[in-house]
Amino acid sequence: MANELILIVEDNDKNRKLARDLLQFKGYRVAEAESAEAGLALAAAQPPDLVLMDIHLPGMDGIEARKRLRADPATSAVPVIAFTASVMPQDRHQITEAGFDGFVSKPINIKEFIAAIEEKLAARGKAA
Ligand code: MN
Repeated sequence: MANELILIVEDNDKNRKLARDLLQFKGYRVAEAESAEAGLALAAAQPPDLVLMDIHLPGMDGIEARKRLRADPATSAVPVIAFTASVMPQDRHQITEAGFDGFVSKPINIKEFIAAIEEKLAARGKAA
């Protein structure tokens, strides 16, 4: 069922590697970037099926990167999940306002993480 391409944009090595290992274990293909700028370049070169986006990144933040993905016709329909340690309601509100399609929290809860990814990919298949 897997084989979809998931782009992870996360500057923290430990979080990025754990997310990558889990997704690869589930059979997904993974692309990785340590900055929003690098992630946008990867997404433009090969639009992924889903993006997992950290919010706090060096340079451009995840909020701006999500807006840019939406503004580009090649990636406007790609679901983007915020990968965030913050559970503050105002932060979540800002993330939702920016057009994110969901959240996964850090530190990773393996069951919740996989469930969130699978749910978004399934929803994408049904939509449009
Ligand atoms: Mn970060």
